[in-house]
Amino acid sequence: MVTIGSGVGYSLSENGRPVDYPDKSYGLAGHVPLDPEGPRCYAGHIGCSQCLTNDSLAEEYSTMIGHLASFQQFADDAMAGEAQAKQLVNKLCFRLGTLIATASNFAMPSKVLISGESSFLARLNTESIRNGISWYRPSQAAKIDFEILDFDWADWAEAAAARAIARYIG
Ligand SMILES: [Zn+2]
Repeated sequence: MVTIGSGVGYSLSENGRPVDYPDKSYGLAGHVPLDPEGPRCYAGHIGCSQCLTNDSLAEEYSTMIGHLASFQQFADDAMAGEAQAKQLVNKLCFRLGTLIATASNFAMPSKVLISGESSFLARLNTESIRNGISWYRPSQAAKIDFEILDFDWADWAEAAAARAIARYIG
């Protein structure tokens, strides 16, 4: 699973169980190189996966339209089909496809789930996700099966709550 929103998340599960790893909470997928022409992140990388985050998108959109815009404004413009917002969604989806290809080429999952609070933007251009994937994956390799989940904060909270309960009674 790859998540996009205020940050970039990644997790792997095998036979229905999450793969455990001591460093998994350190944001290992946060600075994966994705776009040689992408924006520079706070750590100085050009076009790393930070470019998928809401703050970075707001900044990139502001530069494109020539005045300060929030992430919400970008999202609203994208949903309304504004040309420049669509252009940035296109980039976002291609970069997301690149991340999915990179992760899948190493982890070899049978399916990739996309979620996170801004994953609704990924629905606007699945074609660019596919293009991003195929740009970084051998053409003979099987197509990657991906699905964009309906994101719901309640699921997020319930998952955390369930873990807390399990720890307490377990
Ligand atoms: Zn970075």
